[in-house]
This record gives sequence, structure tokens and C-alpha cells, in this order.
Amino acid sequence: MNTSRIECVGIVGAGTMGNGIAQACATKGIRVVMVDINEAAVAKGIATVSSSLDRLIKKEKITAQDKDAALALITGTTSFDELKVAQLVIEAATESEPLKVKILQQLDGLLAPETILATNTSSISITKLAAATQRADRFIGMHFFNPVPMMALVEIIRGLQTSDDTHDTVKAMAERLGKTPITVKNAPGFVVNRILVPMINEAFFVLAEGLATPEDIDAGMKLGCNHPIGPLALADMIGLDVCLAVMNVYFAEFNDSKYRPCPLLKEMVAAGFLGRKSGRGVYTYC
Ligand code: NAD
Repeated sequence: MNTSRIECVGIVGAGTMGNGIAQACATKGIRVVMVDINEAAVAKGIATVSSSLDRLIKKEKITAQDKDAALALITGTTSFDELKVAQLVIEAATESEPLKVKILQQLDGLLAPETILATNTSSISITKLAAATQRADRFIGMHFFNPVPMMALVEIIRGLQTSDDTHDTVKAMAERLGKTPITVKNAPGFVVNRILVPMINEAFFVLAEGLATPEDIDAGMKLGCNHPIGPLALADMIGLDVCLAVMNVYFAEFNDSKYRPCPLLKEMVAAGFLGRKSGRGVYTYC
């Protein structure tokens, strides 16, 4: 499919990622229909886009007219039926396999046969989700990064069944959004999280072995590797529970001891030291 045929993008889920994807599309002049389970969630998603655009006006990156034009392109709704007009639907609902399967099967029965279905899942197998639909060749992973309007990367994940046409269309669509896509085969963690989360896990081993203080471990990776943030501070941002859950998936899926979660990471999660969101992780937040 030629991306110019994608005049409207459907988004399921108006949360952190859904509203970010909506903003990325609308600021490029693409119509969006964004669906969530209730009016409050839809309104929150639209309000988040509005305040994000306000920040861009303050930074003089866009004008007030640009903001109005972008918001006018976004329809927020609780009705899945309104997604019928979209040529590409991106599922960005809560990370739960049974929930996603239910949503994808509902969409599969509703959308035109040629409509491409994409999922923004961080961890669920694209091949498996594709197999739950009747359009496995027109199914793909489109993994945006948070915050979507700022982050340049989109991982395009091919399930075993994804057609070349679906891949090429979605890759071109990511470029149309001003993003840089990379193509990835389906596997746990895809590419970025596969490398990133074991690195964070290793930082916990280094900390547990007492090789250096948290501050020095983070300074080492910032100054020595040019990372914008150290791995332990990043773990606090992501959430230690999320990092542990991801390592558990790798350990279970690959059956390889190199993915064993660090005992200190497990211990901290058990203690409720989850990072910024709980006020205490590796560091303390007031
Ligand atoms: P979120 O909790 O902020 O938003 C999820 C939204 O989905 C909520 O508004 C919820 O009401 C809605 N939802 C739940 N069930 C629904 C249904 N049946 N129909 C319509 N909407 C429904 O979550 P998020 O962080 O935006 O994550 C969404 C997806 O993106 C997940 O698959 C996640 O793994 C993935 N992801 C998240 C990040 C991140 O940093 N947050 C990064 C990349 C990918």
C-alpha cells in the first residue's frame, strides 16, 4: 500500500503512547481517530496532546495556529466503529496479552480487509498476536519510544507472517511522521530493550558486588560511553519492577542464564523500592 493512501490513522488507547502517536500524526497533517474505554480516558488523552503542543508553542517550535490545526485533526471517541475510516490502526492499549488479543480480534472483524493492523507492544510476540487475527500478513509491530513526539526511533517488527508490502508501507509511514525506522525480526525485547535492559541488570550486579557507588557507576557510563543518563538512574525512571519483569521474560523465553535477573534487583522490587514512582529506588526522590 502506498502511504499516501493512509489518510487516517486509528489509535486504540489514549494513554501515554496513544496520545503521543496521535500528536505525531496530527502535527504531520494526518487525520486521527483515537479510541479509549471511557470519555474520561479520551478527554485526558486529548488534554495531554493539547498541553504538549502548548510546550512546543512556548519553545517557539510551532505556532498557535499549528496547534489548532493539529487538534482539529484528532477525533477522540469510545466507539470502535469510528475506526472503520482508518487505513492503518495502531493498537496502543494496556500491555496485557489477553486484552490485546481481544482488541485485535474485534478490530479484525470491523476493519476493511486492506487495512493494516499494527501494535505498539513492548514485549508480546508479534507473530503470536498476528496469528490471533485473520490478517496475519497485514499485521506488524510499530514500537514507538516515549515521549513519542520527541523520540526519533520507531522499531518496525516483522512477525513471521508479515508481508513485504505491509512492512514497506509501515516503514514509509514512520518516515512520514519524521521518525527513523529500523526493521527488526520478532524476538523478546526486539532490539533496543534487548540490549538496554540486560545492561541495566548488569549495572545492578556491579552495584551488588560493591565495585563502585551508584553515582560513580552512573558517572562512568555517562562520561565513558556518552550515555545521557546512567543505567541506575534510568532504572529508577523506567521502574525497577518493569526492568525485573522484562528480564524474567528473557530468562523464560531464551532459557539462557545470561538473562538471570540480578538478586539485588529482585530484592529491591520485593521491598517496594521501584524507582521514581515509589519515591525510592537506587536513589531517593522526595
Ligand atoms: P497507558 O496505561 O498510559 O495507556 C493505555 C491506555 O489503553 C489507557 O488509556 C487505557 O484506558 C486504554 N485501554 C485499555 N483497554 C482498552 C480497550 N479495551 N480499548 C481501548 N483502550 C483501552 O499505557 P502506555 O504506556 O501508553 O502503553 C501502551 C502500550 O505501549 C503498551 O503495549 C506498552 O507496552 C507500549 N509501550 C509503552 C511505552 C512506555 O514507555 N510507556 C513505550 C513503548 C511501548
